[in-house]
Amino acid sequence: MTLHDHDQPTPDAIPTHVADLATTCEAPAYLYSRDSFTRNIEQLRTHLPAGAQILYAMKACSIPGLLARAVHSCDGIEVASAGELVAALEAGAMQVALSGPAKSDMALQTALTAEADIVVHVESVHELHRLAAAAKTAKAKAQVALRVNRSSSPVSGSHRMSGEPTAFGISEDQVPSVLALALGMRDVDVVGFHHHAVSNCVDARTYAHHVREAVAYSRRLAGQFDVRLRYVNVGGGLGADPRGDRIDVKVLGELLADCEVGSAQLVFEPGRYLAADAGWYVTEVVDVKVSHGQAFAVVRGGTHHFRLPASWGYSHPFVVVERDEWPYVWDRPGLVDELVTVAGELCTTKDVLARRQPVRRLRVGDRLVFARTGAYGWEISHDRFLRHEPPQLLLAD
Ligand SMILES: *Cc1c(COP(=O)(O)O)cnc(C)c1O
Repeated sequence: MTLHDHDQPTPDAIPTHVADLATTCEAPAYLYSRDSFTRNIEQLRTHLPAGAQILYAMKACSIPGLLARAVHSCDGIEVASAGELVAALEAGAMQVALSGPAKSDMALQTALTAEADIVVHVESVHELHRLAAAAKTAKAKAQVALRVNRSSSPVSGSHRMSGEPTAFGISEDQVPSVLALALGMRDVDVVGFHHHAVSNCVDARTYAHHVREAVAYSRRLAGQFDVRLRYVNVGGGLGADPRGDRIDVKVLGELLADCEVGSAQLVFEPGRYLAADAGWYVTEVVDVKVSHGQAFAVVRGGTHHFRLPASWGYSHPFVVVERDEWPYVWDRPGLVDELVTVAGELCTTKDVLARRQPVRRLRVGDRLVFARTGAYGWEISHDRFLRHEPPQLLLAD
């Protein structure tokens, strides 16, 4: 087995045990590394301010092996649906944050009756009333953090959810009145604020600024309303770009060293940063052709398993893992030193994972391995379209 890195953009070298599994497993498959995932958690914990809590945003990747690691190595889990909430509780999470602009009754009820310590991130007045009513019925007190959509957001990244009109959270101008309402409710305990604002921010300076602003805002408002601030959740969004950039969490930690939250808990909810480089998507080349002068590799797999490149509009880097067996008597189709477009098995020209990328050699039967596909890979894909086989989901360690 030989690994061929193509020239640009260079993916991380694939660990040998992952490359071995990518050669021998049935394709298509996702391979996940619990060790990489755990290393990311540990690295983050090393650099974030002492006492900061890490809740894993399980929507990034919720396969049981990683979820179990997150329950073990993080402080808790961030969920955004009843289904995720139940899965997190079943995996043993003792601390949970519940977000989402369309929480179901089922989600609210489960949150109120679970044994875990659950903070509900309230996103509207109506939701606050629904939660208070459900708490009354359940004879429970709901722990609430108001999710704030700030008027201007200092943070950059790929999907901004704050600082502009969105369906998420409570618009900053309305927060004081919603807070006053919540503070008057017997079945609600306001513990603090939630500030998830962005995804995939790779700039430590910008992210640190976001954290400081979120903390300052929360302390200011808590002071004005005489709230005992126990919880400042700055959300997720720590960047790990599928093309390679990663936020420098060491620099982030240094920039936050003197960030003072008083007696409140500073909470981070990373998903992507923890899971992105803990997953590899493995496809098999099933055909090679030249169409009107351009080379195509057709793979078993595609955007119905790995939607991210089509969704974001970029070419995902890949590595060719060569396989030597060729069971047929005719010539093996392949190409040498070409720019190749990697197309999937769907009947649409949108099913492209990478466009015109240089490869040294690639043949039918070889495997193409896409690194950094652990976050928002399989999870966000639309595999029902065309009824192809789903990928295997395998643990590499
Ligand atoms: C998606 C999400 C996260 C995680 O975002 P990442 O970009 O994966 O870190 C955290 N909190 C909330 C509320 C989310 O919706």
